Amino acid sequence: MVQYQLVNRGIQDERVLKVMADVARHMFVPQLYRHAAYDDCPLPIGEGQTISQPYMVAIMTQCLELKGKETVLEIGTGSGYQAAILSRLASRVYTIERHETLASRAKTILKQTGYDNIEVIVGDGSLGLPDKSPFHGIIVTACAPRVPVCLLDQLKTGGRLIIPIGNPYNQVLHRMVKLEKGVEDRDILECAFVPLIGEEGWKPG
Ligand code: SAH
Repeated sequence: MVQYQLVNRGIQDERVLKVMADVARHMFVPQLYRHAAYDDCPLPIGEGQTISQPYMVAIMTQCLELKGKETVLEIGTGSGYQAAILSRLASRVYTIERHETLASRAKTILKQTGYDNIEVIVGDGSLGLPDKSPFHGIIVTACAPRVPVCLLDQLKTGGRLIIPIGNPYNQVLHRMVKLEKGVEDRDILECAFVPLIGEEGWKPG
């Protein structure tokens, strides 16, 4: 997985490559799909949601440029896999999931597998987590119709927001860096995520 899916496609951050090799992805994949846990694709995790393709997890993580001391917010816990990856690269991870069932399953697996610097929260992550802000990095693993301004507000200066923006069919992953004044916004690649549903995302239903 690491050589063919990540290195060959240009993932270069050695810390990201190591953690992608170390974290047992199959633990986060439902039994039914475990045989395909390291395949080059997203997989169903229940509630109509998916665990992202390994390459997508790697490139989003690389975009954060974590050094080890950061506090990071993930929006869209899903299986808990991305949170596990982040937890080995930062000092503290908060992750928000709107589905109670997914959040509690992720919490159990993260505990079992020994990732203890992660807090899983049930709620609408499109509003961020103001109480614990500011963050060095925010990563949104669901697609938003536009950039939720509150998320930029919850970043430190120099902090990064990694977020897919678009409609359900056409999305672009953005890497935004909060500057003293304004924001630097770079397009990373085209992508396809499940929708971010909430106050600053899409309406449910
Ligand atoms: N990062 C996950 C993949 C997440 S899929 C992993 O590693 O497995 C996207 C997740 O975002 C879904 O579980 C979905 O329920 C959740 N989601 C969508 N809108 C949300 C919101 N407003 N707040 C929190 N979670 C949300």
